[in-house]
Amino acid sequence: MAHKETLEQAQTNAQKTLALLKDQHIRQVPRNFTIWYEYLTESNPDLVRALNEQLAGSGKFTEAMAEEIYSHFFTFEKEGQAIRESNRLVQESMDNVVVSINNTNAEFSEYGDQLSEFATKADGMSVAELQDVIGEIVSQTNTMTDNAKTLNESLDKASQEITSLRKLLKEVQEEALTDTLTGIANRKCFDEELKRLAELASENGKSLCLMMADIDHFKKFNDTHGHPFGDQVIRLVANTLRDGTGMTAVTARYGGEEFAVILPNMELDEAVDLANDLRQSVSAKKIVKRSTGEDVGRVTMSFGVALYTAREDTATLLNRADEALYDAKNSGRNQVKHLQSSLAKTA
Ligand code: GH3
Ligand code: MG
Ligand code: MG
Repeated sequence: MAHKETLEQAQTNAQKTLALLKDQHIRQVPRNFTIWYEYLTESNPDLVRALNEQLAGSGKFTEAMAEEIYSHFFTFEKEGQAIRESNRLVQESMDNVVVSINNTNAEFSEYGDQLSEFATKADGMSVAELQDVIGEIVSQTNTMTDNAKTLNESLDKASQEITSLRKLLKEVQEEALTDTLTGIANRKCFDEELKRLAELASENGKSLCLMMADIDHFKKFNDTHGHPFGDQVIRLVANTLRDGTGMTAVTARYGGEEFAVILPNMELDEAVDLANDLRQSVSAKKIVKRSTGEDVGRVTMSFGVALYTAREDTATLLNRADEALYDAKNSGRNQVKHLQSSLAKTA
């Protein structure tokens, strides 16, 4: 939490946050504290909006909500830590290289001085004296070769360290954008990509569609077969959606058992057809319990598809896709509905 606040303000805010948690019967654990501290101090308007929306939906702050909000808004803490640690290590490597270069420079300049001194004096030297001096120069030259080798080695080491740190940073960044259960894009990645691709579509005049999909009656499935098996089904659905959408699509886990697919360069009728293909692929999957081989039937999904209108807010597009999904649910589930502007149509 990078607030610019005095210690006194921080203490007051912390007390207010704790009082709020107690008052609302929210568990007083660090994760909930972090979320509500941020909410109370209104330092992150996106978080305030997201939490208000969630609360408007269910009226109650749940663990699932905490998980979603926290992983969406606070994973940067982990990224931040990795970046700070990498910076420190790179700085350390660089410091070592600079020390090596400085030492070598000083020795080189001394060596140079000795060589020029020899050049000026060599004329008047006897053979014996010359032999001594040459012996000295050979030994100095060997030392300099060693020094150059050490410098090379320390440059090599620094370059290796920087390469592996860059790799590590990339991994951390990727991890922060990946859903841990399914391995597909997470909500944070989805939000970023939707913004980016919507801007791109507005600029280049190409069409873009958004698809929201939600597993039907999943609560019942969990209640009947258990949460861990439910998780397996979420993975199966994620794979089916990912495999069924093209390379340019962004398939993300939007929340619990809800998915979102961004479809750049796609017209509405194509997106509706694709949604129907995906719907059929999911419902065609036979679900078998690995442990017992028991066939537990199938799951179905409802889909809402919306077409992006250039330059509109991505939240408006999301609302429209959500509205279409809601319509699909209300019309009996296992179907696709779409919304172009404000009018729902049956697919
Ligand atoms: P609907 O057809 O209206 O979508 O009904 P539903 O039961 O699917 O919807 P509801 O929103 O009532 O319940 C969603 C359920 O999804 C509740 C929760 O148990 C389950 N769920 C959410 N996230 C996960 C998860 O990560 N793993 C498992 N196994 N279940 C989850
Ligand atoms: Mg559902
Ligand atoms: Mg749902």
